[in-house]
Amino acid sequence: MATDKSLKSVSRQNIRKILLIISFLLIPVTIFYVSPIVIMMGAAEGIASGSMLLFILLFILSLFVGRLWCGWLCPMGAWQEICSPLMKHTVIGGWRDWIKYGVTVLWLGVIGLSMFSAGGIHAVDPFYGTVGGISISSLEVLMMVALIFFIIFIVAFFTGRRGFCHVLCPIAGIIVAGRLIRNLAGWPALQLNAAANQCIDCNKCKNECPMGLDVHRMVRAGNMEDPDCILCANCSDTCPKGVIRYSVARK
Ligand code: SF4
Ligand code: SF4
Repeated sequence: MATDKSLKSVSRQNIRKILLIISFLLIPVTIFYVSPIVIMMGAAEGIASGSMLLFILLFILSLFVGRLWCGWLCPMGAWQEICSPLMKHTVIGGWRDWIKYGVTVLWLGVIGLSMFSAGGIHAVDPFYGTVGGISISSLEVLMMVALIFFIIFIVAFFTGRRGFCHVLCPIAGIIVAGRLIRNLAGWPALQLNAAANQCIDCNKCKNECPMGLDVHRMVRAGNMEDPDCILCANCSDTCPKGVIRYSVARK
């Protein structure tokens, strides 16, 4: 018979999956508001687009909830989780995990230069690039978005599950920067905590982590912070002993 704990765990992951599927299905409407490309186009015209506003918001949120966006709402993350049965392995991290920070610096540099050559930001238009608020408004845009999602799939296919989040996503860089600031300042924020003394070393948490993190090692090391943890709570919901929990606490 299912226990209260396992029912709660299943429903939390069901909610997460439903949110990710909704986020994926809303792509025709929302993709321009989360697009690292549209923000550059807007900046080149001196316009703060919807994606610029969202990325500023994500940076502020990251000071309190880290990469929760990546785990629960991001449509690109959703796409990779939908495709994950086709990915045979988890990401082999190491040096590849650092590439995204270079991409973020380059991307922010281009945005900054574009804004500079446009003489700064002259207008705020949350609906920039959309038609009546809808992102995919023509066959050309649909083809372009499909190409980008195909590239995300290819990156994940060759690097491992959620490989794009690990290796190339420029948005990850700004969110990780926010988390780093919080970790240095130490104010209360959403995080994982683990009671290592209850761990039975079954490795289920490690095997179920969509980001391929060695969660068992993190539990044993007494440090649940990792820049690539997207706070999806899969490890917590998989652990048979309830070792790992969400908490709002100081670092
Ligand atoms: S460590 Fe846990 S919360 Fe973090 S990404 Fe892995 S499964 Fe999700
Ligand atoms: S799933 Fe739980 S008990 Fe198993 S290794 Fe991870 S923390 Fe330990």
